[in-house]
Amino acid sequence: MKPKHSKQGIAMRTVYVNGAYVPETEAKVSVFDRAFLFGDGIYEVASVLGGKLIDFPAHIARLHRSANELGMRIDVSDEEILAIHRELVSRNEVEEGVVYMQLTRGAVDRDFMFDTEKLKPTLVLFTQTRPLVDTAVARNGMKIVSIPDLRWGRCDIKTVQLLYPSLGKMEAKSRGADDAWMVRDGVVTEGTSNNAFIVTKTGAIVTRPLSNAILPGITRAALMSYSTASGTPVEEREFTIDEAREAAEAFITSASVFVGPVISIDGVELSGGKPGPVTLGLRKTYLEESLKRAI
Ligand code: PLP
Repeated sequence: MKPKHSKQGIAMRTVYVNGAYVPETEAKVSVFDRAFLFGDGIYEVASVLGGKLIDFPAHIARLHRSANELGMRIDVSDEEILAIHRELVSRNEVEEGVVYMQLTRGAVDRDFMFDTEKLKPTLVLFTQTRPLVDTAVARNGMKIVSIPDLRWGRCDIKTVQLLYPSLGKMEAKSRGADDAWMVRDGVVTEGTSNNAFIVTKTGAIVTRPLSNAILPGITRAALMSYSTASGTPVEEREFTIDEAREAAEAFITSASVFVGPVISIDGVELSGGKPGPVTLGLRKTYLEESLKRAI
């Protein structure tokens, strides 16, 4: 089905809101929704390549994990969630891009206290069409600056409380960089919207272990398993921002960037200021392997 167009001729997406497929200009969520008032919502972003979903089962598993950690209900089955993803990809003719899914605890008159059982969760999904494979970041790499990690203590839950990461990206931009890595006690936690990796001089990849301090990235986990399978040593340990600045290479992982080369940290160039060979090899492996599993 062709996307509808607004009076101005701008392509109008079809979005999903609580059981209905509607033009984006007609989609409505209550002003009393707890995600709007309290940030009481969780989300997932799954990428689409060749019209197919990448790493989808892992995204669903993490949605359940986030919901469980917050005592939030999911009233829609996994099969239905997959069907909604596919319907939106098809209606909006997405060949390459992402599907954003947000689940909130629901809408109720404003009160800090809540009774989840009496609330009907809000489920919203929409697509974004954009290049993911052949991008400026993939070709040229990204410049990173470090910022203190001032987020709350449950960064392992994928909530919509993204003000600090958003401000972090703006600070990176104002410092002439593309993104920021967050640092706690000298140790890198993660990127504003991605997991952080370095490559040692001996060619091992290093990323910090999972804990409440970072999001268990779907791309991180997939990449680590492909790396191990292909013989690239993986060290799951903490690393300092100083070690990162002296690393042979560095990169980030996320569902929409996949493996993104880092070419400088706080102005210190890595791998000669261009994407490093280990990183580019891992990006290729990730794309090949995840496409094989795309659904
Ligand atoms: N870390 C943070 C803080 C994120 O927001 C994200 C993605 O949004 C990631 C890591 C990467 O996770 P994934 O690979 O599942 O996209």
